[in-house]
Amino acid sequence: MRLSRYFLPVLKENPAEAQIVSHRLMLRAGMIKQSAAGIYSWLPLGLKVLKNIENIIHDEQEKAGHLAILMPTIQSADLWRESGRYEDYGEEMLRFKDRHDRDMLFTPTAEELITDIFRGHVNSYKDLPLTMYQIQWKFRDERRPRFGVMRGREFYMKDGYNFDLTKEDALHAYNRHLVSYLRSYERMGLQAIPMRADSGPIGGEDTHEFLVLAETGESEVFYDKAVTELKFGDRDIDFNNIQQCQSIMEEFTDKYARTDETHDEVAFEKVPEERRQVARGIEVGQIFYFGTKYSEAMGAMVQDSEGQTVPVHMGSHGIGVSRLVGAIIEASHDDKGIIWPEGVTPYHCGIINLKQGDEEADSACESLYQRLGAAGLEPLYDDRKERAGGKFATMDLIGLPWRITVGPRGLKNGVVELTNRRTGESDEMSPEAAIKKLVEQYS
Ligand code: ATP
Ligand code: MG
Repeated sequence: MRLSRYFLPVLKENPAEAQIVSHRLMLRAGMIKQSAAGIYSWLPLGLKVLKNIENIIHDEQEKAGHLAILMPTIQSADLWRESGRYEDYGEEMLRFKDRHDRDMLFTPTAEELITDIFRGHVNSYKDLPLTMYQIQWKFRDERRPRFGVMRGREFYMKDGYNFDLTKEDALHAYNRHLVSYLRSYERMGLQAIPMRADSGPIGGEDTHEFLVLAETGESEVFYDKAVTELKFGDRDIDFNNIQQCQSIMEEFTDKYARTDETHDEVAFEKVPEERRQVARGIEVGQIFYFGTKYSEAMGAMVQDSEGQTVPVHMGSHGIGVSRLVGAIIEASHDDKGIIWPEGVTPYHCGIINLKQGDEEADSACESLYQRLGAAGLEPLYDDRKERAGGKFATMDLIGLPWRITVGPRGLKNGVVELTNRRTGESDEMSPEAAIKKLVEQYS
């Protein structure tokens, strides 16, 4: 992409309405624009990051054997009356009528609709296990929308639902989700710690939330410092292997880590004092096992191998896709701007032409731009007739992990400068070497 043809409405001043750094930087970097309280348009740069996060989640869900579907955002109230949640959900649910005076709502989550799909088509244990998920917009009429996309009213969420014959199978689905979520967050350059949580209005027995530690987090969390040292890394995983998924689940959840809702001071005090941590966290996901709550209420039954009709065991599993954009920035920025982890960066590197209009500099940049593209990378080329200082400031603000700086002086010696956004380290090298290093970096 050439910056001269892009739509990147960066702001010089800090927007007064933004209280936390991720909100400030998303507005300043021209990623989003508010259209109403808690409702945002995603501009080109913001949408690219959102889609990168979405793609990682799709990829990991597919690897776990879960099937992508897409359900509507607008639903009929009737289904929600069957489960009893139409009344229970409260004011967070946006309700309205269609022209025939039928009660409709904008989906805040989709247990009812997916259960309806299931009961319409599945009636034998032979079709189980089954896990389906979607990445779709949700609406919750939050009392206090704030912090930009972190607590929006309209937000993008991955929601998945498992249907299993037995509790054990459903617990395997739970563990599979835990593993696939750990892998997803790590690919986004994030550490999200599973913590025992409260199930809230969805109801259920087992639930963990995934929290990213950050001072601006809305949840108070209590944990054994040892949990921050766990890494999923690139270990091999077979999602069908019940034992393997369970032992990873145990590895990541047996140390003390809880949100304030489930915090137990007596249990916490058993953690050695030097490892006891109290901090704040951002909830970026949650997994639930809730048994037969919805299947019984809505008649999602199958015949088991003995011909008995039994309700299926279910769970639901969510990731806050749009919230993650903010959470990643909270975890990765400095006073100049965002620092994107390589897994989610909107462009792989920036190219800065220090002397736009200089024949040699222009053609060196053009050649770099073409060759990076041919190597499978997406560069963002600042080809505007701007002062170098302004170009550097924009590049630092939007946070691409790598920058190649091209100027007449370096070109005389056959070199460009490759700079790492996170460390600030710069190295002079030939354009070929810079391309090679970037290709290696992203492979
Ligand atoms: P919270 O406690 O933050 O209100 P929740 O527990 O009600 O969230 P879930 O039903 O677990 O939310 O939804 C799954 C994920 O969707 C959450 O883990 C969170 O990352 C994200 N999410 C929930 N509400 C919002 C919101 N208002 N804006 C942005 N993301 C949200
Ligand atoms: Mg939650």
